[in-house]
Amino acid sequence: MLSTHVANKIAAGEVVERPASVVKELLENALDAEATRVDIIITAGGRKLISVADNGRGMNRDDAILAIERQATSKIKDVDDIEHIATFGFRGEALASIASVARFTLSTRQTADDFGTEVTLIGGKLQDVKDCGCPPGTCIEVRDLFFNVPARRNFLRAYQTEQAYIRNTFLLHAIAHPHVAFTLKCDGDLAYELAPCDTLHDRIMEIAGHEEMDRLLPIEYTLGYVRVFGYAATPAWTRADRIGQRVYINRRPATAPAIINAISEAYPKMEGNRKPILYLFVDLPPEEVDVNVHPTKREVRFRNTKAVRDAVIAAISQTLHSHGTPLPAGAPSHTEGLPPPPSVDVSRISTAFNLPATDMAPVAPPPRPVAPFPFETPSASPFSSASRPHPPVRTDAEDVVINMPSGAPWTQFRIVGRLSPGYVLLETNDGYTVLDPAAAHERVLYERLLGESGAAPYASQQLLIPQTIELTPIDYRRIETILPILHEMGFAIEAFGQTAFIVNALPDILAGTSSEAVLIDTAAAFEEAGSKRGRERWREEIIAKAASRAAVRSRRTLAHAELSAIIVDLAGCTMPYTSPFGRPTMIYTSFRELDRRFGRS
Ligand code: ADP
Ligand code: MG
Repeated sequence: MLSTHVANKIAAGEVVERPASVVKELLENALDAEATRVDIIITAGGRKLISVADNGRGMNRDDAILAIERQATSKIKDVDDIEHIATFGFRGEALASIASVARFTLSTRQTADDFGTEVTLIGGKLQDVKDCGCPPGTCIEVRDLFFNVPARRNFLRAYQTEQAYIRNTFLLHAIAHPHVAFTLKCDGDLAYELAPCDTLHDRIMEIAGHEEMDRLLPIEYTLGYVRVFGYAATPAWTRADRIGQRVYINRRPATAPAIINAISEAYPKMEGNRKPILYLFVDLPPEEVDVNVHPTKREVRFRNTKAVRDAVIAAISQTLHSHGTPLPAGAPSHTEGLPPPPSVDVSRISTAFNLPATDMAPVAPPPRPVAPFPFETPSASPFSSASRPHPPVRTDAEDVVINMPSGAPWTQFRIVGRLSPGYVLLETNDGYTVLDPAAAHERVLYERLLGESGAAPYASQQLLIPQTIELTPIDYRRIETILPILHEMGFAIEAFGQTAFIVNALPDILAGTSSEAVLIDTAAAFEEAGSKRGRERWREEIIAKAASRAAVRSRRTLAHAELSAIIVDLAGCTMPYTSPFGRPTMIYTSFRELDRRFGRS
């Protein structure tokens, strides 16, 4: 038999992963106690102190002592209750677990009582129970989290990172409870002060502001016993990760594979597997949900997965459809009133390469070392200048044959046309090439951003109006961490308060793109690359992602002249045959190969 003490510490490992998990449990308890006001104070990212005070129903002395015992829950009376759980907590192990890995004080009072009770534990050992003066409700203070579990403590990230997780948890819950007033104080600064409001709409406005709200479409749909509501962004507003997808099941922040799949099915296929922004609430009878899958209750299961899936798909599709988004899957599009997706101004690309924007006729490209082509074999080279038996045939005014200057890796090409999946067909000296313009564009932007020597600072393009970017706590923290690298890349960006940045300039190659999207992706790329790779590798990843982001539109929408510019620029690249992510930019077939296949010999 394990001692209770050890059992608690083991349970703590499941429930309390990091300071944000403590905040989550305490917040949920406060909401279960029907609080209308919750005040949270943290210091040092929650490592030193997490205090959560509520004005909920409070506990009497007996309940307070019971509350810190394992499996003590007032929320389930008998086994059947497990089948229809409507409250957040039910396992009765959160407080005991938290108390076992911290210095823990619980003070609580029921409104009718004259005084309250204060219970103190250190590392799970009860120290003191006494009367205390306190307002009605409950206040729990957790100090020195993991002081007795060095392995956990050492595993924690920088305190700003932990703070970002806490802010995110805070917002996640605050969104689901618009009627409740919330404050969050971090290291003495008031990070959020949310007044109670009437609707989800008002709460999202309070947190995210008008601009974000204007880009969201309301969802309201009921199918059978499943009600789906909330807000969904059009397919034009996406993120590379899932942070912007807030999903609630019976008002509990939670996820389920069925819902994740339903979301991606309801939206048109996204370039680069991006995720649309979403505030999605799924309500259904509690007995249809199994929340007892994981100790943190983050992932749930449904009795009837299909019922939930169908409802979510129908709800989102209907919302998108009624706002003019073409369905089913097609090219990502944007609706009126939304900022257009990032695009690259071809005149800037051309300027960057010393090419005139309008006339794509041969012009000397910047002097560039002609690098060896790593994938080139003499017979498979699409643009070999050694032999040119067939100069591309010129057919009409649109189909201009472009002659490359000497020193370029290919001598001539002609854009024959576009194939419906978005590929471009080129005729070159001695064969034809099917080009993926997005991959090609990515390569061109990537090499430009990376810089030939890798040392030259990038040119910046001042924004006419500096842009303020309001970010989620996690994005804010990520970007804060890479500010020096961003500056090096040509971003002029400064912190503006606790949650926003001001962008004054972008790297010139990215001018015209949405700086918000680029920054968020850049930060996510950085986070993914993590500490495993060196700084140089980070930079390359960031640049590759930025290039890919900027090139996303190329597959369908590039004008003829823009395409020509990219092909000319591609000729100047060190590695023209692959995108920065290793996808081919082109597939070449020589005329000799065609002749052979047709038996012309
Ligand atoms: P659970 O929430 O799973 O029941 P916890 O360990 O989180 O388990 O809490 C144990 C019990 O303590 C709860 O069932 C509840 O009765 C009581 N409790 C905890 N926090 C509060 C609070 N803020 N206000 C009132 N009662 C609380
Ligand atoms: Mg609980």
